[in-house]
Formats: sequence, C-alpha cells, structure tokens
Amino acid sequence: MSDYTYESYCSMYCGACSIMKAYQTGVKDPFAEFWVESGAELKCHGCKSDAVFEGCAEFGGCATCTMRTCAREKAVERCLTCPDFPCAMYQPSEKSQIATEMLPHLNTIRLNMMTIINKGMEAFLKEQEEQWKCPDCQTDFSWYTTHCSKCGKDLGDLKPYRNSFDGSIFTMPKK
Ligand SMILES: [Zn+2]
Repeated sequence: MSDYTYESYCSMYCGACSIMKAYQTGVKDPFAEFWVESGAELKCHGCKSDAVFEGCAEFGGCATCTMRTCAREKAVERCLTCPDFPCAMYQPSEKSQIATEMLPHLNTIRLNMMTIINKGMEAFLKEQEEQWKCPDCQTDFSWYTTHCSKCGKDLGDLKPYRNSFDGSIFTMPKK
C-alpha cells in the first residue's frame, strides 16, 4: 500500500512509529502493546493523512495532537515552514522536559529538524528509511523495539535516546 505518509508536521518520522509499524506488519513493540492495553485500535496512515491514530478515549492520540491541529488549521506544510516557528509549543518548559524524559522518542524531533534543515525532506526520508532497518537482516523496527523481530539482534544501541518509555505520562494531570 502506498497511501502512507511518513513525514509529520513536527518532524517526527512516522515510518518508525510503534503504532504505524504494528498496523503495517502486525509486530508490536512495547509502546504499541501499551496502546493495545489502553484499548486503542492500532491504525494509522501517518500524521499528514486523514486516517491518523485516534488513540483511546482516555488519552486521545495523534488525532488530538495540538501541534498537528495547529499546523492543519494554519495550512502550513510543517512547523519548520510556519511563520510563527518556533512558537510557544517549541519553547523548552517543564512540561516539554517531562515529556521527552518519559517518552524519549520525542528527542528525535530536534535531531530530525536539523537534518531536514540541512539536507532537505527527500534526503531526510531516505536516511530515516535506512536508519529504522535492522543492520543485519533489513527488517523494519520501531521506536521502542528492543530486538529485531526477525533475527533477534539487539537494537537498543542504535537509537539516539533511551530505549524505554514511561506510559504513566498519559495519566498525569494535564496543565
Ligand atoms: Zn534483524
């Protein structure tokens, strides 16, 4: 199927997303399992598609993401091309610090933005596609995969962030 979009408004790479990967391949990493246990349907065609992950009633999902909603309302291609970037949502805060600590894959946003600025979107997408494949057997993996689903290779060291998340962030009181 080709109706997937792998770039997002905030610069996260949807092709490595636990939810999209589980939807495409059936292989669930711990973050995907967390959402299944929360009652969410693991279905998504990407941030920029109209069939984005809806999450569960309790926590919401990408469909209720404030950055995505804002970018779509403003009809900007991505936050980086928005005249208001970097807006308040991108200012370091206690909230953003907690979020990146508990959901360390969010650290990729900053790294990805640098790549997109320096190399362009096409090169970024190509680079990401390579980055999220097992170096030994080329099987795709996602944000919190610990070991390759095909050959068992330890993939923890390949990620530029701690390879575990804290799901309790979703039950913390929202400010
Ligand atoms: Zn492998």
